[in-house]
Amino acid sequence: MRLKKYNYFQRVYLPFVIASVVMLVGAVYSERQNSIIHTQDLRNSIRNQLAGYQASLEGALNADIQLVQGLVAVMSTEPDLNQERFEQLGEMVIGSHSGISHLAAAPDLVISLIYPIKGNERALGLDYNKNDAQRRAAYKVRDSGQMVLAGPVNLVQGGSAFIGRFPVFIGTGDDRRFWGILSSVMHADKLFAAHGLTDPDLDIEIALVGRDSMGPQGEQFFGETAIFEDDPVVLDISLPSGSWLIAARPKGGWQARAANPWPWRLVMLVAGTLVLIPFFAAGRLSAARKDIIKTLMRRERQLETLSRRLEVAVEVSKIGIWEYDVKTQEVIWDQLLREIYGLERQEPISLDIWKGFIHPEDRDEAVKTLMRAAEEGGYHTSEYRILQSDGNQRHIRTMGTTFKDGAGGMRMIGVNLDVTRDVHLREKLIEANHALMQRNNELEEARIAAERADRAKTEFLANMSHEIRTPMNGIIGMADLMSESNLGEGERQYLDTIRDSSHALLKIINDILDLSRMEAGKLAISPVDFDLQRCISGAVNLLRPRAREKGLWLSLSFEEGLPGLMRGDDGRIRQVLVNLVGNAVKFTHSGGVDIRVSKVAGDPYHLQIEVEDTGIGIKPEQAAHIFDRFSQADAAITRSFGGTGLGLTISSILASRMGGGITLCEDKQDGACFTLQLRLEPAEGVVQLEEPEQLPDIDRLDGVRILLAEDNKTNRLLVRKYLAGIKCELSEAENGREAIALCQDMLPDIILMDMSMPEIDGLAATREIRSMNLVQPIIVALTANAFDSDREACLAAGMDYFLQKPINKTVLLQTLAMLRASQLEQKQALG
Ligand code: ADP
Repeated sequence: MRLKKYNYFQRVYLPFVIASVVMLVGAVYSERQNSIIHTQDLRNSIRNQLAGYQASLEGALNADIQLVQGLVAVMSTEPDLNQERFEQLGEMVIGSHSGISHLAAAPDLVISLIYPIKGNERALGLDYNKNDAQRRAAYKVRDSGQMVLAGPVNLVQGGSAFIGRFPVFIGTGDDRRFWGILSSVMHADKLFAAHGLTDPDLDIEIALVGRDSMGPQGEQFFGETAIFEDDPVVLDISLPSGSWLIAARPKGGWQARAANPWPWRLVMLVAGTLVLIPFFAAGRLSAARKDIIKTLMRRERQLETLSRRLEVAVEVSKIGIWEYDVKTQEVIWDQLLREIYGLERQEPISLDIWKGFIHPEDRDEAVKTLMRAAEEGGYHTSEYRILQSDGNQRHIRTMGTTFKDGAGGMRMIGVNLDVTRDVHLREKLIEANHALMQRNNELEEARIAAERADRAKTEFLANMSHEIRTPMNGIIGMADLMSESNLGEGERQYLDTIRDSSHALLKIINDILDLSRMEAGKLAISPVDFDLQRCISGAVNLLRPRAREKGLWLSLSFEEGLPGLMRGDDGRIRQVLVNLVGNAVKFTHSGGVDIRVSKVAGDPYHLQIEVEDTGIGIKPEQAAHIFDRFSQADAAITRSFGGTGLGLTISSILASRMGGGITLCEDKQDGACFTLQLRLEPAEGVVQLEEPEQLPDIDRLDGVRILLAEDNKTNRLLVRKYLAGIKCELSEAENGREAIALCQDMLPDIILMDMSMPEIDGLAATREIRSMNLVQPIIVALTANAFDSDREACLAAGMDYFLQKPINKTVLLQTLAMLRASQLEQKQALG
């Protein structure tokens, strides 16, 4: 729920604010008045209380003085009274009143009579003349002829006391003379206590001022000094020789406020609230009214804008509005709708006229929809064509709704839109869509055709490679065999040319195959643990004979600290190196080639191999293209050096697949320099060092039964010749079917199986032989197919080994000997 936010900072709340301020001021004033009245009451009550103390003290002191005055009167008649008589008189005076503690008479200002004597002996003989202060006090009494109430003073015997000094005169008339002084001592503490001034339960604090009866000029001698500074209630205590002031305030000082102001405040609060609530409510109502008026005005403006917008929209969008009274069948059209149908303003309109406009093919449906909507109510929509009076055809979309009118009848209201353009657009869109789908189909067909062509290309390459390798096998094999025989100088030269040319051709085929594999993304890098120095030296050593032939040096150096073992595809590394060093040897006539192996940025697995020669070099304008496929620096050079222009392309792709690349050194003056970078990894295990190449132990093949399945006559002849020096039993089959039959007859130890043969190919024949119940031979695939997939197919069919054409005699004999040895070992193991 959203709470309505009120804005309380509006003018409508002004009366409420003023009333609040007035109420606040009134409350403060009444609080003050309340406090003043309370203080006055308190002062009056304290004054009354204090008047009691005043009367009590005044009465007591004056009574005591009267008593002593009586004694003075007696003494003036008995100037020679002795101690005994004094005690007698003292007894009478003090005994009847406890305010006076003792009396002392000092004739000629020397104390000689004391009552009671006990405890006051030390005062006997005290001469007032000997003490300045006492003498001054005594003279004051003598000269004034009046009693003087002094003190309180500290007594010699301890405590403080008021001393009433009375002059004693003897004689009358001219004989009247000063006899001495009578002092009466009243203990101050006793006096204050006797009159309740020190009562701890008192609810007021009392102070007395007027030491030595000096009234307001005298010092304070009782109570806290602060009392007189705190606006106390003050009364006068009059004494025969002066006065004291007695002052009081409430205990702890005056309270700022009335003791319990809360009932009063509560009354004020309730009254204030009762007054303010109507003001506030009035403010709120006013504010709400203003808000509503504002909202109403805003709505009105919005409505105005909206209806204006609607008007414009209807006008611009060419929407015609219609109304239909179901009961009376009255039809109303607005001007726009008439325009859509091409109807003049004054022409009448009815349901039948409308029906007459509708295209005959759409009429029934359109009328049915309208009638159903009129019956069932609710919203309806339909689309139909109309034929305007001039024969023009338009597409109309109608939307309408049915509702009950106030008189209990049913009415319909709705709009018509001319959607001719939309319909045409839709038709065009559908057409375009069809065309697009057709195009898509064509594209899909083209894609399938392209894929088919791609497959065909791969197959063609495979076939071509196979078809070329098969005769090459014959040529190279025969040439190899021929070179073993005694030949004249000229014949040997011819033979060497045949062999070189065949090898060159084979290299071209291998390169083209490699490139097509790379382009098909099928070239795999297979990392293994290998010996780095051995791999690089091996590749370089392959080229030493040619370098020697050309009189070139070939130097290889390794940076210190390179790891012995690494993980990478050593075969591919060798391939790249053979290409780079091969090129260097090929394009150098004098001087030589330096090969330097080092690590990059201290990382022993990030290798850099520089191959630098002193040959013909590469011109800057040629440098940019030498890594492009089939690109050679110079056509003339090509003719003199041979090559396909694929070597660097393949090498550079291989290097980048091994995390590095090949770059041409810049600013090289003489000769060329290539830098090969490779990112390898640490070896995972211990590398199996290759066994030094061994000559085949041909004796092992004695008596072995070999079946050769090969359709090509030359190749059969070749294998026959290769095996000529071996005491083995060789049978030959020209296709798979013969091979299967011969296998059952002769039970061979080893089958050399060509892959592609007529009738039954090598794979099918192998599967058949593997399914037969006989001592299973070793089956070696003999194939001109060079793809990895071929090798996999052979192994999957049940073959044990894979020899690629063209077959080299040594390799063939070595493989056969190796396989035979392991076969014999197995047989032995099985007993
Ligand atoms: P090719 O098989 O033709 O040698 P490459 O791709 O290996 O193909 O080399 C492409 C071209 O780059 C060569 O034909 C040659 O023009 C040039 N080239 C490569 N290496 C050298 C080099 N060491 N010295 C001079 N030119 C070279």
